[in-house]
Amino acid sequence: MLNFDFYNPTRIVFGEGQIAKLRDLVPQQARVLVLYGGGSIRANGVYDQVKAALSQHTVFEFGGIEPNPTYETLMKAIALVKAERIDFLLAVGGGSVIDGTKFVAAGATMDDDPWTIFEKRAANVQAALPFGAVLTLPATGSEMNSGGVITRKATHEKFAFGTPLVFPKFSVLDPTTTYTLPPRQVGNGIVDAFVHTMEQYLTYPVNAKVQDRFAEGLLLTLIEEGPRALAEPHDYDVRANLMWTATLALNGLIGAGVPQDWATHMVGHELTALYGLDHAQTLAVVLPAMLRVRREAKRAKLLQYAERVWHITEGSENDRIEQAIARTEAFFREVGVGTRLPDYQLGREVIEPVLKALEAHRMVKLGEKRDVNLEVSRKVLELCL
Ligand code: NAP
Ligand code: FE
Repeated sequence: MLNFDFYNPTRIVFGEGQIAKLRDLVPQQARVLVLYGGGSIRANGVYDQVKAALSQHTVFEFGGIEPNPTYETLMKAIALVKAERIDFLLAVGGGSVIDGTKFVAAGATMDDDPWTIFEKRAANVQAALPFGAVLTLPATGSEMNSGGVITRKATHEKFAFGTPLVFPKFSVLDPTTTYTLPPRQVGNGIVDAFVHTMEQYLTYPVNAKVQDRFAEGLLLTLIEEGPRALAEPHDYDVRANLMWTATLALNGLIGAGVPQDWATHMVGHELTALYGLDHAQTLAVVLPAMLRVRREAKRAKLLQYAERVWHITEGSENDRIEQAIARTEAFFREVGVGTRLPDYQLGREVIEPVLKALEAHRMVKLGEKRDVNLEVSRKVLELCL
């Protein structure tokens, strides 16, 4: 096992009816800004529950944070925070709203242009406003981690940042808030959580037995509950299992003491920034190709994955690996997420622009061994066709 320093201060308040606890979770004297997205929380009653819980608080609102939240929109939220002397933020929505809130929390305390967070790898973030979250879409893990991903519309750039200053103080996870998710977002969430787990599990063995088994448990749960969540959208236990699994997939626990890959996410971010695919759509396209291209470096873990997650025991080593990758791809398709570029009306024409973007963003040494250079990324993109 590798050395690690695991820290996660986020309090999780889980279950039906827990939104009412915001009354006590949000500091009484705070000037609170509630941030949300395009209106799903108004349609499904979550907004009303939040307002009722905060009826004794001083509350301001900022709606309109888009999927793949943009710098352009978030700068408007930062201006509002400064103008109204807001001192507590509450994100209500999916990963985009929570990531956006993290950027606002950090950006509102800075004299520099907050975009410099990405150039300086967050070294220039000295403080952040405290914030909490009400999660409505199990997918990203943002509700219990210290990372965020922000897009600059003007330049088609999508960058990730992270600092322990932007862990949420708390997150409320009520599985019933996810009943209204459209199937596309349910599928996206399942794929995102699956790929988060794979980025931390499917590398090379370091004898981290419990992390491996946690990761396998999360993958097995997604495989079991994912299709059921689509077939029976109002099954509480299915939604509860899905929600907690997605959180555990990226809260630091399974990533402690193991190598981490993240090449699939980095290539995927360029596809979203350039062509507007949903985050999880890019992952469903890139992951199978990435595993096929890097099967030698990942051989031991691919065999373990084939056996323990897909119960594949027949055939030569190469056969078993190919079967496991094919099963992964079939699973993504089963939950409604296309796994090839043509599923999104894209083809060979994307390869050069994506490689150029990776180069411009210095994404030229990716993966757990830093050996995913532009040539490897080219091979991966060829296999996405
Ligand atoms: P999202 O972009 O937050 O939301 C997608 C859509 O789902 C929105 O249109 C939203 O509508 C809708 N929605 C959310 N909850 C709903 C509900 N309960 N009922 C009906 N509709 C609902 O999706 P996401 O997958 O959670 O977040 C994706 C973003 O997170 C990407 O930018 C990705 O790069 C990033 N990400 C972050 C991390 C991290 O660790 N921080 C990890 C992976 C990915 P409204 O806008 O109307 O609410
Ligand atoms: Fe992700």
